[in-house]
Amino acid sequence: LPIVAIVGRPNVGKSTLFNRLVGKKLALVDDRPGVTRDRREGDAHLLGLDFRVIDTAGYEDEDPDTLPGRMRRQTEAAVAEADVALFLVDARAGVVPLDEEIARWLRSSDTPIVLAANKAEGRAAEQGILEALALGFGDPVQLSAEHGEGVGDLFEALLPYIDREVEEEEDVDLDNPYAPLKLAIVGRPNAGKSTLINRFLGQDRLITGPEAGITRDSIAIDWEWRDRDGEVRQVRLIDTAGMRKKAKVQDKLEKLSVADALRAVDFAEVVVLLLDATLGLEAQDLRIADRVLEEGRALIIALNKWDVAENPSSLFNGVRKALEDGLSQVKGVPLLAVSAATGKGLDTLIEAGFETRAAWSKRVPTGELNRWFERAVDANPPPAPGGKRIKLRYVTQIKSRPPSFVIFGTRVDQLPASYERYLVNSMRRELGFGAVPVRLTLRAPKN
Ligand code: GDP
Repeated sequence: LPIVAIVGRPNVGKSTLFNRLVGKKLALVDDRPGVTRDRREGDAHLLGLDFRVIDTAGYEDEDPDTLPGRMRRQTEAAVAEADVALFLVDARAGVVPLDEEIARWLRSSDTPIVLAANKAEGRAAEQGILEALALGFGDPVQLSAEHGEGVGDLFEALLPYIDREVEEEEDVDLDNPYAPLKLAIVGRPNAGKSTLINRFLGQDRLITGPEAGITRDSIAIDWEWRDRDGEVRQVRLIDTAGMRKKAKVQDKLEKLSVADALRAVDFAEVVVLLLDATLGLEAQDLRIADRVLEEGRALIIALNKWDVAENPSSLFNGVRKALEDGLSQVKGVPLLAVSAATGKGLDTLIEAGFETRAAWSKRVPTGELNRWFERAVDANPPPAPGGKRIKLRYVTQIKSRPPSFVIFGTRVDQLPASYERYLVNSMRRELGFGAVPVRLTLRAPKN
């Protein structure tokens, strides 16, 4: 569901609006621990639109001295997670300095902001509405949460942000493990890509032959695979072979296969890099692996022609080591031994594909994420360049596919790359991302 965060200073009516939006479905409201302990979430229904609302209220009774800091953290966390932030001011009280301060926080956010002037019923609100206009977020939506006025206007203001999100999610079918797995098979000419696809399909649909770069055509093939429990799973195989036929000479082929690989990657969730075990790992393979991960796709490396590999275990270990020496990024990427000719390891390969996609699509619940974050930062606090400690405050997952996170803190521009790697590796290990690419952005909340 798309997420709307309601933000604003205490007493502007956030909770009243929240209750109006979520209505009788209050049973679904959950109180989450950690950074988000002061907020409520619920599923809202507004004139046919469904979305999730985050209410950042709850700090009303707290010590006023520390209020702005905590409020800011919360507001920014909620806003970072949201598709749109609903910034509420009180039209009758007018704009006060704390409203202006919140407006400054919101201005540095990438999330779209919809400004609403609440308690807008009657003449007493006119002056406040004008002041709200001066906050620089355009004309405020005039609202009375208590009396249910202005809901239609609110709907219209939110619609562009919410609607788009709904469409996108339906399109990619984010969490469904039974959605067709989009799997691209890439690798240098002669690695055995066509043989592998033929094996999967159980028919000689593509031409395979001993010469590199033989002409092929198909690029996407829908296939049904039966898993160990006998369940049929859909797989869309994306083959790069067809794009190679334009190349005439060998050196052109070598270049093309990287470009082909990347083209196929656009359509894929998981990319299988197929290597010829009799040849081992070459620089070009590492380049392809690197680019696949750069593109944010999940990667699996398969050593093909295992049936004719000499000294298999030392070969396997050699490739594993070469991968780790080559690129820290590919450390831990699943490495499998297969034979397209005999079928060995092919079910394991498809299983790995589904598992890897699940990790790549995963969303970590906020509480779990922040508990991991506290542990990781406690176990290994960030350094203090020039005697000033870098403070990392909280983390939020902004999307999946690939999993992407924002960490908020102070002086984060001075955080060494090695520390970022530490966090990413810890996250992979402890939150179950394995070797899928994890994106991390550091943000210092600006004024
Ligand atoms: P592509 O260019 O990556 O599509 O490679 P092909 O599928 O055309 O295979 C190149 C050559 O390797 C062909 O002669 C295949 O028969 C052979 N080959 C592919 N997979 C295997 C395998 O698992 N074992 C053996 N022994 N040969 C294979």
